[in-house]
Amino acid sequence: MTVPDTVFTEEQLVQARAGLRDGDAHDVIAWALERFPADRRVVVTGLQAEGVVVADMAIALDPSVRVLTIDTGRLPEATHRYLDTLRDHWGRGIEVIHPDSDEIQSFTSEHGANAFYASAQRRLDCCHLRKVAPLERALLDVDCWLSGLRRGQSAQRAGAEVLEIDDRHRNIAKVNPLARWSGETVRGYLREHAVPAHPLYAEGYTSIGCAPCTRAVSAGEHPRAGRWWWERGVDKECGIHALPVVVPLAAAS
Ligand code: SF4
Repeated sequence: MTVPDTVFTEEQLVQARAGLRDGDAHDVIAWALERFPADRRVVVTGLQAEGVVVADMAIALDPSVRVLTIDTGRLPEATHRYLDTLRDHWGRGIEVIHPDSDEIQSFTSEHGANAFYASAQRRLDCCHLRKVAPLERALLDVDCWLSGLRRGQSAQRAGAEVLEIDDRHRNIAKVNPLARWSGETVRGYLREHAVPAHPLYAEGYTSIGCAPCTRAVSAGEHPRAGRWWWERGVDKECGIHALPVVVPLAAAS
């Protein structure tokens, strides 16, 4: 692994991981806030329970910590209302970034507003324009981002470390304080700290993204089954945390 000196030498990375190995999420977040200057670190959340927990913990440690979310332009109205709820709850602002309007106009003009239903590639292209690219731009100015990624969310995320070098974003640090947490621990934190949860959880959603690409799940379904539910043979990823893999349908069935 090539790690630039601007963030970590390999030796520093090994030392930092060793120091965080037995730490809880609070310790991990405190370490990140201490290790990186305030203008060089940011909490990124899609406003799902995990990211909100990380933001809540970080705000408790540093009330002015940067907290950022992406408005893809296709979010459910409930998510916009929830954003207002969180602003009120925390008594502070949340940065909202957007896709490049020219890129979206070009894409929808050529392929239509709902191109993501046409093919896996169109869906991945849409996710790239609306989520991946805006985040890439936002992370240009920081050395560290904190996410709500958990190992238990999916097979693709099972190998997530508490501290990673993000080779998809200039080798900056990516901190996943909840990597070792279960979903129940996340829900317990929200209850215990009286943090409002996204209202769609109460309607049977277990993973929440854009309105046309997310539905509630039935009992027994995988928690991410409601994301891009029409797809077969494609990882339930948008590309922010893990590169989606498109598996030939014959092999996937
Ligand atoms: Fe586009 Fe759907 Fe991805 Fe949102 S989740 S960016 S609407 S494909």
